[in-house]
Amino acid sequence: MDNKISEFFGCMVFNDDVMRERLPREVYKSLTKTIATGRTIDPSIADVVANAMKDWATEKGATHYTHWFQPLTGVTAEKHDAFISPVGPCKVVMEFSGKELIRGESDASSFPTGGLRATFEARGYTAWDPASYAFVKDGTLYIPTAFCSYTGEALDSKTPLLRSMDALNTESLRILRLFGDDQTKHVDITVGAEQEYFIIDKKMYERRKDLLYTGRTLFGATAPKGQELEDHYFGPLKTRIAAFMSDLDKELWKMGINAKTKHNEAAPAQHELAPIYDTVNIAVDHNLLTMEFMKKIAERHGLVCLLHEKPYAGVNGSGKHNNWSMSAGGKNLLDPGKTPGENMQFLLILAAIIKAVDDYQELLRVSVAFPGNDHRLGSCEAPPAIVSVFVGEDMRAVIDAIIEGTSYKGAKKAVMDLGIPSVPVFRKDTTDRNRTSPFAFTGNKFEFRMLGSSQNIAMPNTVLNTAVAESFRQFADILENADNFDTALAKLIQDTFKKHKRILFDGNGYSAEWEKEAAARGLANLPTSVDAYKTFMSEKNVALFSSLGVMSETEMRSREEIYFENYAKIINIEALTMVVMASRDYIPAVERYVAQVADSAAKKMVVCPEISCDVERNIITRLSNSLAKTYDAVQKLTREEEIAASIADDKSRAVYYAENVIPVMNDLRAAVDEMEILTASDLWPVPTYGDMMFRV
Ligand code: ADP
Ligand code: MG
Repeated sequence: MDNKISEFFGCMVFNDDVMRERLPREVYKSLTKTIATGRTIDPSIADVVANAMKDWATEKGATHYTHWFQPLTGVTAEKHDAFISPVGPCKVVMEFSGKELIRGESDASSFPTGGLRATFEARGYTAWDPASYAFVKDGTLYIPTAFCSYTGEALDSKTPLLRSMDALNTESLRILRLFGDDQTKHVDITVGAEQEYFIIDKKMYERRKDLLYTGRTLFGATAPKGQELEDHYFGPLKTRIAAFMSDLDKELWKMGINAKTKHNEAAPAQHELAPIYDTVNIAVDHNLLTMEFMKKIAERHGLVCLLHEKPYAGVNGSGKHNNWSMSAGGKNLLDPGKTPGENMQFLLILAAIIKAVDDYQELLRVSVAFPGNDHRLGSCEAPPAIVSVFVGEDMRAVIDAIIEGTSYKGAKKAVMDLGIPSVPVFRKDTTDRNRTSPFAFTGNKFEFRMLGSSQNIAMPNTVLNTAVAESFRQFADILENADNFDTALAKLIQDTFKKHKRILFDGNGYSAEWEKEAAARGLANLPTSVDAYKTFMSEKNVALFSSLGVMSETEMRSREEIYFENYAKIINIEALTMVVMASRDYIPAVERYVAQVADSAAKKMVVCPEISCDVERNIITRLSNSLAKTYDAVQKLTREEEIAASIADDKSRAVYYAENVIPVMNDLRAAVDEMEILTASDLWPVPTYGDMMFRV
């Protein structure tokens, strides 16, 4: 079976083939129509579908089913119910009804709701998302669902995503109709998320409290070797890693996940997996499953997969490149063709996306803001915290020509009348050179590169879909009412490029000059998550989400609360972990070493009183100074953390952590790292950076 991928690919998924085989024709037709159009399912077919699912799942060894959902914790949640139903004393049958398939009810009081629901109204509902296939994993049938409160507010990441897909579908169909397309019934949003991660030996992982509690190292002196030789990137895979990757691929393929590309990344022990793109809600579910499988399969190999954005200071962190496009009837709407300058529909879509990113740059920044990602964005390795768009040299020439063009007079075909001097023929392969850009056009898709490796990709895509839908909405309003479509179209494209040119940037996104230049252009620079969160509830953002029916103001408010709350909680855990490690591991270890050195000096002097003990004196002095710094920082961190934790208001608490707690954490780390390089290896209580990154 190992080599026949096609035979086992998707074998654990209740996919189209299984449906066609197991469902009555009419039911199958009705269900696939629901899936294709994103409509609500006809409840009369639910029982039949549920029963077929149960039969199929039990053949795969399932005894339970679960509604699988994405609460605002950022990870998935599940509660397993057995299929059994009693039919007399000591007798059961396996049952699964349509009602159980479509809707679940669960006590949701322990999930973050950001004040959306008081604990006494603890009920939450899960609702089946038929567009994302059910699957069997570990003896349970998983049903992807959306999660909402008793009053219908979204308590999850999936619901707003589905709503944003709907909004973008509606608005982009209006645009396609204007170009004479009356065939396309549905516009799909396609996403391929490239996933980066680190691998560490499990034994070392277990000895690091910081990795256990926070997913990243809070201490650690830089190893003599990092990524400077660039010998890891695309390098040959170590045997153990290759075995893990191969196992992972197989498990993902069984789940119908198109794991396609795998390779070593820039930092030592860093790797990447890229799938083939899929419809965005499926891409989200698959990415969540991929992350879960990475962790699970790594354990099988005595390894641990680190999905944190910055497991190690001093080398690259991990991100997730979110490749995004739209397609209609299998045709990629972001494919410019050979002469994009003459492809008015493409230019309009391009203009819409550029406008969307410029108009909602803060919101895009918020969608990737959380403590782990603060270590990447703006740290001279990943994209900067300033959002900008890179379109590539050729496309930039097209845009510039259009901006400089004079008025448009002729018919649609006579694009030269736009005043474009000479539209360059588009060379696709020149577009992907700028690796520092946060949002880059890569030939036939946009790559949003600010996402963190651990995050659920639903929110960034929700923002992107909604912002683009808003551009289309405005464009369609103008064009549908235009006296002369061609003239209005040309003017709209030109005006939009002119107005939003400031967001286009081709240079080095890591440079200090860009920061200045971006400020001069009036672009938002939101270095930390807290800076970003403060912009979330702006009038503009509330209007965007509510007018397109993606999130109500109440739903947004709840997310804002969770942003701040979560930020404070994470920094709090990190601070407490640092205090514990410094007080109970590092200080005692260094004390032991200092005593050893002092002891050795004393003994030497007994033997040879005239001998120099400068070395010992020096080591003891330097370590004692660092010990004092460490101790002071621990005291200070404890005080600051207590003050922070006592602040009731979520926003003020988060701000206090960002402004007062993090700087002390940095001081503490610096003091401990200083001691590490002066202390004997055999006394150092935890594995070092060198051990963790190079001994895998
Ligand atoms: P690059 O080398 O420019 O990053 P790749 O072809 O390797 O491009 O693709 C990277 C990711 O982009 C993959 O996950 C791929 O499936 C995805 N991708 C390709 N085309 C599209 C598309 N039309 N929509 C969304 N994602 C896409
Ligand atoms: Mg890429």
